[in-house]
Amino acid sequence: MNEDPKDLGEDAPLPKESPPSLMAVRLPIPKLFHSVEKDAPFTHCLQCQRQLIGSGEQYVIEKVFRGTEAIIEIAMCLDCRDASGDSVSAESARALQVFFETRADFANRLMDLSLNSDEGSVNRWVDRCLFTGQMRDGLREYQVVALCQDEQIVRDFFPIMISGSVIKEISGVLSEQTKGWMNDFIDTHFGMPPEFCEPSGFRPVLI
Ligand SMILES: [Zn+2]
Repeated sequence: MNEDPKDLGEDAPLPKESPPSLMAVRLPIPKLFHSVEKDAPFTHCLQCQRQLIGSGEQYVIEKVFRGTEAIIEIAMCLDCRDASGDSVSAESARALQVFFETRADFANRLMDLSLNSDEGSVNRWVDRCLFTGQMRDGLREYQVVALCQDEQIVRDFFPIMISGSVIKEISGVLSEQTKGWMNDFIDTHFGMPPEFCEPSGFRPVLI
């Protein structure tokens, strides 16, 4: 048995230019990702009401803020999220993928986070916009997205923060059909007409 941890063997070459990778770390879910409505962590899927805590299944939390106020908050199991994805047109799904691939600097983000990770915190993951690098403090609108499991947040690529100006751009690449579905979804669950979000041209999108 080879006990030298540096010797990874010939089957696991690590090219020098390979970007640093992030180890998935599980941490208690910070208040940023709690339900403001319940003043506690989310416990159930918004769509199917399935119990999320104790299920062992992963789920996604998405929150949209205007200033310090969370105007939309969603916790959703992956089954419902996949089903929601079926409502997004193929054209929009492709446009979203291209937007993320071409506009986010993943290599730099990985480098920065791997070199400067804060052991017990997700702050650095959501302090700056994934796309523009703008600081969250001072943004008029922003959106945060996290992957969770039971009472913990999974910290690797997620969580992310996206500034309102980029959300507007993303909205611009979605088809009218997809935007219509998102508006209906938000209206159904939050009883809020999409116009509520539009004085500034800002309209939330579901990532
Ligand atoms: Zn569900």
